[in-house]
Amino acid sequence: MLRSLLLAAAGSDRLGRLAGSAPLGRNAVRKFVAGRDADEALRTGRTLADDGLAITFDHLAAETRSAEQAVAVRDEYRALLGKLKGAGLAPAAEVSVKLSALGQRLDEKLAYEHAQAVCAAAAEAGTTVTLDAEDHTLTDSTLEILADLRKDHPGTGAVLQAYLRRTEGDCRELATSGSRVRLCKGAYAEPESVAFQSPLDIDKSYVRCLNILMSGEGYPMIATHDPRLIAIAEDRARWFDRTADEYEFQLLYGVRTEEQARLAAGGNVVRVYLPYGEQWYGYLMRRLAERPRNAAVLGRGLVGR
Ligand SMILES: Cc1cc2nc3c(=O)[nH]c(=O)nc-3n(C[C@H](O)[C@H](O)[C@H](O)COP(=O)(O)OP(=O)(O)OC[C@H]3O[C@@H](n4cnc5c(N)ncnc54)[C@H](O)[C@@H]3O)c2cc1C
Repeated sequence: MLRSLLLAAAGSDRLGRLAGSAPLGRNAVRKFVAGRDADEALRTGRTLADDGLAITFDHLAAETRSAEQAVAVRDEYRALLGKLKGAGLAPAAEVSVKLSALGQRLDEKLAYEHAQAVCAAAAEAGTTVTLDAEDHTLTDSTLEILADLRKDHPGTGAVLQAYLRRTEGDCRELATSGSRVRLCKGAYAEPESVAFQSPLDIDKSYVRCLNILMSGEGYPMIATHDPRLIAIAEDRARWFDRTADEYEFQLLYGVRTEEQARLAAGGNVVRVYLPYGEQWYGYLMRRLAERPRNAAVLGRGLVGR
């Protein structure tokens, strides 16, 4: 119930505008968001890299409703990638991109062209792009654009969501040589017709998908904070004789930081998903929906205590 409310709040423009006017410098927001702009994010990224962590930067943008907004997002990523190169953070740092922010809901061809430009900038900077997964109405289109992008940029990463019933099949399709695939549970409110609903069914699906990816030819990126799933992934890595450079763990900035350090100290590649930007509100609400007990911490932070 609370999760549904928080997910609904995540999509509310009105609440987003209200929250956007609150100062970001509060501790609670800073716990999960690297800063308002690329320079602040790069400073945080540098600290993480110095701690031996890899990074994927995510620019938090408002929902793209015009071609001009899509161009602005493309240009933000191109500028970020230029700065990454200048700061010597590539290839330890890559970027995560939402195709919807590049105009996917307006015109798929436009989104593809913008994504192609971002991938070219990433290649120039010596790093890669991963296409975030969004709600299920975009899954087919996203996987089609991914296939097109991979013709020129085979390192482009996919994201699959274990809560979707289709995802085992998608894992089989994508577990090919060199294919980077992030596996997460899924963060959107999805109907029963397309998605498992109970945490147990989602976890079981996650393990089935993990088995396919870890036994396949690709490069699995295990994105979860769930201790049981992390332990199963560690087990599968041993079982399928994967060396530490043949898979990675991914966790969100500010979540289970001790676990991030433990995994990295154990010789694993650990990539931190590092969001930044003015539009932090929807992102934060989705994190709260996953763990409502953080709401009290956030509430105190927003009023500056
Ligand atoms: C790197 C990364 C990238 C992602 N990309 C996408 C994407 O592109 N598309 C998408 O839909 N979703 C994405 N997600 C979000 C994902 O789908 C889940 O919504 C989110 O990760 C929560 O699921 P979980 O696997 O962490 O486990 P949960 O079911 O949320 O938590 C399981 C257990 O993990 C532990 N845990 C979780 N959070 C905390 C915490 N804050 N502190 C302490 N323990 C905690 C607890 O033991 C909890 O019981 C991404 C997640 C990560 C980590």
